[in-house]
Amino acid sequence: GEKYAEFDGKGMLYHAFSCFFFERLHKQGIATHFIERCSPIAMRVHKLRIVPLEMVYRRIAAGSLCKRTGLPKGEQLREPIVEPYYKRDVLGDPILAPAHIFLMELVSPTAYKQLVQQTRVLGDLLTTWLREVDFELVDMKLEFGWDVHSSLLLGDEISPDTMRIWDRHTGESHDKDVFRHDLAPLIPRYQEVARRLQIDV
Ligand code: UDP
Repeated sequence: GEKYAEFDGKGMLYHAFSCFFFERLHKQGIATHFIERCSPIAMRVHKLRIVPLEMVYRRIAAGSLCKRTGLPKGEQLREPIVEPYYKRDVLGDPILAPAHIFLMELVSPTAYKQLVQQTRVLGDLLTTWLREVDFELVDMKLEFGWDVHSSLLLGDEISPDTMRIWDRHTGESHDKDVFRHDLAPLIPRYQEVARRLQIDV
């Protein structure tokens, strides 16, 4: 929200990324809100009651983790971690301890365990897929929700706006940081990720 710009074709590119990842997850037997692509800019999804938590998966220190802990940017974490952030713009989406989550009854302890576990599984899978094309998944934000059957499903989007992706050889960013820090023209960096993953855009 602190920096604003518009890019031609960005919506279509993001749609293509999200459809690609959701379809690939379905092939692995992982259910998400995704039903089908309807057009180059639209998809049909299951309606979800969104969990008021953003689940962040991290493998390498960057962004707010560095600010909060003092860990140097780029430091490999001993093992991936999962953090919950409260989806409340007025509070600035703060990180929460599980005790706060249960105090406010945002989700039950059982559902929280499920959210952490699903975030890990999804983060590990995307790490593998990105490594196959020489990218490193640094961190990623996921959102989940309950469908009409009260099943917890992955929702929202999966795109280079919701992850940090670094080239494994050059260390170059191919994500939102390119725009935030004016590192290079944004769309070509995103297109390179699409090209390597063989996503049609
Ligand atoms: N992220 C996101 N939406 C948000 C907050 C974070 O997609 O509202 C993503 C962000 O792009 C990064 C990861 O979650 O891939 C971790 O973000 P971090 O907490 O480091 O905050 P940031 O430095 O992005 O502000």
